[in-house]
Amino acid sequence: MSAQAQMRALLDQLMGTARDGDETRQRVKFTDDRVCKSHLLDCCPHDILAGTRMDLGECTKIHDLALRADYEIASKERDLFFELDAMDHLESFIAECDRRTELAKKRLAETQEEISAEVSAKAEKVHELNEDIGKLLAKAEQLGAEGNVDESQKILMEVEKVRAKKKEAEEEYRNSMPASSFQQQKLRVCEVCSAYLGLHDNDRRLADHFGGKLHLGFIQIREKLDQLRVILSVLNLRLVVLKTFNTFTKLILCRVLVKAQKFLTAESLKLQMEVWVASSWFCSEISG
Ligand SMILES: [Zn+2]
Ligand SMILES: [Zn+2]
Repeated sequence: MSAQAQMRALLDQLMGTARDGDETRQRVKFTDDRVCKSHLLDCCPHDILAGTRMDLGECTKIHDLALRADYEIASKERDLFFELDAMDHLESFIAECDRRTELAKKRLAETQEEISAEVSAKAEKVHELNEDIGKLLAKAEQLGAEGNVDESQKILMEVEKVRAKKKEAEEEYRNSMPASSFQQQKLRVCEVCSAYLGLHDNDRRLADHFGGKLHLGFIQIREKLDQLRVILSVLNLRLVVLKTFNTFTKLILCRVLVKAQKFLTAESLKLQMEVWVASSWFCSEISG
């Protein structure tokens, strides 16, 4: 690519392809069916998991940062409902991942030595503490890398406490079975990314898992999916509001909803719904 073409591509990514008023320049429009809507919304698993053990290769649809810029400009003007496509995409992707997790769990249950409920509860306790250690270490490393040494140190002190707890839990687990069984690697499946976690994994492995691109990528995809569900529910609510209320109330409610979108979680949305139903009844009472 020539320096000029490179500069042009960079500007496209920053400001969209129609920045100089020429809308015909881009052959494929961001609205084209061949364009990946998840990519436009910055949540395509093909991007997020690239370079991880679960790299999905190239997406079957078009990815183009310049089209994303076009979309971002257009979506400020009007609702395009691309969230719907992205949500479908992520939902089927996560469903597939969860199916794999269940399968892996089943396989483990079949192959790992049968242990009593009491012993397995003790193993579970060690697994949970392992998870805490892994997450804390990953966080401490991240803070350290950002130059936030004090916070990082604080977290490392926390890790020491959890380590002591883990030692106790391990001891209890060890005492509940013959030494030969204890040495066997007991595995568990990560609910987030479906990778295997070992009961005797060392700190390095734990930190690598919980701070790794794969695990964090899955967290990002799952959070994005939740967010999309909320955004779509808000869009639906706005449509209901537009149909139901008089002009003045409509304006106010829509504005409130757009603002509220940022803070809504799936949980608070349910509550919100009830409030709307009640207020819609109230409004129809006073206007009628
Ligand atoms: Zn894609
Ligand atoms: Zn994981």
